Amino acid sequence: MNTRVVRAACPHDCPDTCAMLVTVTDGRATEVRGDPDHPNTAGVLCTKVSRYVERTYHPERLLYPMKRIGRKGEGKFAQISWDEALTTVASRLHEIAARDARAILPYSYAGTMGAVQGESMAMRFFNRLGASLLDRTICSTAGGTGYKYTVGAKMGTDTEQYEHAKLIVIWGGNPIASNLHFWMKAQEAKRQGAILVAIDPYRSLTAAKCQHHIALLPGTDAALALGLMHLLVRDDLLDHDYIARYTVGFEQLKARVAEWTPQRTADTCGIPVEQVDMLARLYGETAMRGEPAAIRLSYGLQRVRGGGMAARNIACLPALVGAWRHPAGGALLSSGESYPKLSAQMERPDLQPSDPARPSRTINMSTIGDDLLKPASADFGPRVEAVVVYNANPVAVAPESAKVAAGFARDDLFTVVLEQFQTDTADYADIVLPATTQLEHTDVHASYGHQYIIANNPAIAPLGEAKPNTEIFRLLAARMGFDDPCFFDTDDKLAAQAFDANHPRARRYDWNRVRQDGWMKLDMPAAPFAQGGFPTPSGKCEFYSEQMLHAGLDPLPAYTPPYESVASAPELAKDYPLAMISPPQRNFLNTTFVNVQSLRATEGEPHLDIHPDDAAARGIADGDLVRVFNRRGELLAKARVSDAPRRGLVVALSIWWKKLASDGRNANELTSQRLTDMGRAPTFYDVLVQVEKLQPS
Ligand code: SF4
Repeated sequence: MNTRVVRAACPHDCPDTCAMLVTVTDGRATEVRGDPDHPNTAGVLCTKVSRYVERTYHPERLLYPMKRIGRKGEGKFAQISWDEALTTVASRLHEIAARDARAILPYSYAGTMGAVQGESMAMRFFNRLGASLLDRTICSTAGGTGYKYTVGAKMGTDTEQYEHAKLIVIWGGNPIASNLHFWMKAQEAKRQGAILVAIDPYRSLTAAKCQHHIALLPGTDAALALGLMHLLVRDDLLDHDYIARYTVGFEQLKARVAEWTPQRTADTCGIPVEQVDMLARLYGETAMRGEPAAIRLSYGLQRVRGGGMAARNIACLPALVGAWRHPAGGALLSSGESYPKLSAQMERPDLQPSDPARPSRTINMSTIGDDLLKPASADFGPRVEAVVVYNANPVAVAPESAKVAAGFARDDLFTVVLEQFQTDTADYADIVLPATTQLEHTDVHASYGHQYIIANNPAIAPLGEAKPNTEIFRLLAARMGFDDPCFFDTDDKLAAQAFDANHPRARRYDWNRVRQDGWMKLDMPAAPFAQGGFPTPSGKCEFYSEQMLHAGLDPLPAYTPPYESVASAPELAKDYPLAMISPPQRNFLNTTFVNVQSLRATEGEPHLDIHPDDAAARGIADGDLVRVFNRRGELLAKARVSDAPRRGLVVALSIWWKKLASDGRNANELTSQRLTDMGRAPTFYDVLVQVEKLQPS
């Protein structure tokens, strides 16, 4: 037997970007495990990716190109050759592009986070074609934009340092489910005496293990941060030296937060005033003792109307108390901009045709439901005639799902889907092209949770006739007659181009070395903002932001209530009085892994968590089948009655494949396409619903 171990990277949309070791015997992968030598992975993979071998050899893997032979959405397909598939796709795209290439839309996100199989060859293809551009907003742009207004870039505390913190505020996330390796550091800190505080409307697995849990109303995180700042100022729990040297706008901030008394904050957030006091004291006094106080912001808090401002406000806190002075203090939303990525070199926007009669058009992926249904107009441009989906599953993931499905069901829409499995979206494709998994292709990864570049070497040959995304777009480019030299770059050459080896943080980047070693750490200072140096226009932490003023935003921290809440939309709340959020199921990662039988079996079926008081008021008992509905749609779920959600909140852990739920629906039937205050992002957790017991028929 010929056994070898291959160095790889987890490709999924998770901040941990684990370094993996794949055991291959006689050409077949037999085990995937975490690299014990990698400081962040520490030999541990989450349950989901531990099943990667099962997923790779899943009996339902797509192994051949297929064309649709049933109705759109029905899922009936017939195998065709690659030649027929590529000829069909290229000729349809050619024909549409001859009229107006902007009628072609790429649709992709983080199905793989790799720099090579993500937006490299794919974007070269669409740029050269002159297709519509896609605004990739669906997950993180609200919080990212807000955080950057304050701090300057998506970077912050090194995850490895959290184990040395004395206070960790876990704000808006459930790391046990979606940031496991940070949670391991937080657990270590707790063993060393640190206090952990969870801020989350839902008593998640993580919140249940923290010493304190503040279950605020969804969408009120910005107000809580304002109230904390009020108390830090009022009680002089401030690092005056840090504020004077490394921040701008403190006097204006002071005036603004004066309005946010503890009582107003508590009333807005729906929590006891004592909790506001407790957290401000804990945070301020830890810092005043010279001990590291750290915040881990997660993306859950920014999926509401005021999500951008919420992240901005929270990002002000470490500078007020001087927490950035310590390697284990400060805050982290994402480490994504620590990396000197060479996106333009990878994606080649310079290939876009320049035609004044047809200026480039950008479509927001978060409003795909509306945009697929729009006619041509002067404002919108041409009707979307073709969509090419890769690394994404919009029919299940995009908000206001009924409209998304209606758009993809259009008979006059030509849809191509590159996929590993027959997802809800693939069911609407005209042509399905089989894509390789991470074990079958080359890639290189940045992370948004740690500071390592991680290599992914192919461990096994592609299964069936599956091809890497890069190869599919290379072949399509050839069919379209695109002969620019960049379309001939190999995956190794693309990986070598991904990071700037002249940049001080990645000076040692050499693809050949990294692919052998498996990973390398960026050269980052231990405490990046200990002496200021914020990458903002002023070089300081910006409590007051001129950039925000120019963008038409309030230049100071503020609070914008949700679109849909009992307080902000009382008329709507008469019919739909319960707030709903849909955070990740522990065993699913967005919609990836829902079709892995062993993981789906663990999750069972779609549930709705509901507080006992809300259940009793509706005659609902634990285990009852309930109908969850609002004006946008409905879904059926089994009620799980517990006090994990606060009163007035229901929780639909997600994201289920629609076709694997008994009613063919998921939580996105109920979400809206309204956008956040910054970053043009969706408001998945800004939803009112009603719930009723489903009477047996
Ligand atoms: S999903 Fe996250 S925790 Fe799980 S293996 Fe991948 S990077 Fe690691």
